[in-house]
Amino acid sequence: MGTFKAIRIDKADKGTTAALTQFDEAELMEGDVTVRVEWSTLNYKDGLAVTGKAPVVRRFPMIAGVDFAGTVEQSSHPQWKPGDKVICNGWGLGETHLGAYAEKARVKGDWLVRLPEGMSTRDAMAIGTAGYTAMLAVLALEKHGVMPNNGPVVVTGAAGGVGSVALAVLSKLGYHAIASTGRMSETPYLKGLGATEVIDRNELSGPAKPLARERWAGGIDSVGSTTLANVLSMTKYAGAVAACGLAAGMDLPSSVAPFILRGVCLLGIDSVMCPIELRKTAWQRLVSDLDRTKLAEITHEIGLDQVIDAGAKILAGQVRGRIVVKIL
Ligand code: NDP
Repeated sequence: MGTFKAIRIDKADKGTTAALTQFDEAELMEGDVTVRVEWSTLNYKDGLAVTGKAPVVRRFPMIAGVDFAGTVEQSSHPQWKPGDKVICNGWGLGETHLGAYAEKARVKGDWLVRLPEGMSTRDAMAIGTAGYTAMLAVLALEKHGVMPNNGPVVVTGAAGGVGSVALAVLSKLGYHAIASTGRMSETPYLKGLGATEVIDRNELSGPAKPLARERWAGGIDSVGSTTLANVLSMTKYAGAVAACGLAAGMDLPSSVAPFILRGVCLLGIDSVMCPIELRKTAWQRLVSDLDRTKLAEITHEIGLDQVIDAGAKILAGQVRGRIVVKIL
């Protein structure tokens, strides 16, 4: 047994420490598939884990990183054999199970999704958990019946990872997408992704009225708190809002008015324990409904040695689009 490079999180007297170091292969956790990790990515949650700003990590030592794409090296799972290209995200990776910022990962075969035909492992992680979550949100809106002819869809935290992919997908599907951002200077970027309108997030950040002027048929919210409350209060009759994030806070200072007076629905989006069939659908839809040129435009590549610094930046709202992490 040898060692491999990994970002290791340890418990300290105060909080946690994170360092790029060698990890002992003998310490890998249980699992029936060992994967040579090729690419990972940086999500908001990874920022929380590497900086220790929130208790994302619940087992020590931990390898941070909630998602990876790579090639199967060893498998005793009937579905996987050496050489298979796979994607893994969530299921406690980087939280309770040794994670993705490592040259090797050992996981349960049941957690893996086959890399879709025509997608590289780098593309898969350029999309990453953030992009796949954006697709889960689009699928939830579609399931609810929010279609392009029903009216606009607002995307909050638009210049972030979830927001950027959501805009690109919505625009490809023909939706009138409204981008809400705190970075109005990013208007050309957001319009380039397909936003029809760009609004300042201040319009959505004060205390929400129970009901306000109906502005959109749907929403994809990665911000939470008063932003989500405002989005709900401005949603048209029988519309729906997919809530996937908490960039501004976990609270939801709303009222029941949008639900009981306008029939608005709040759709919860969870990427971590999402059932495997829905994951497969989401990844397939990302092949057909996400323009690869736009994906390239929103993606910035870093090495494993830059992850810890980038983690602080994503929490400060300074990362635009998606960061892909080269492992091998
Ligand atoms: P990013 O940091 O890339 O994007 C978040 C965006 O939110 C920022 O770019 C910024 O957009 C906006 N924002 C940040 N801080 C604030 C603030 N204080 N008030 C209002 N807006 C703010 O993160 P991700 O896209 O990776 O993740 C977005 C959210 O979704 C996170 O909360 C994350 O935890 C959550 N998430 C949840 C998942 C799930 O399974 N439910 C899966 C993946 C992510 P702008 O500058 O345009 O305003």
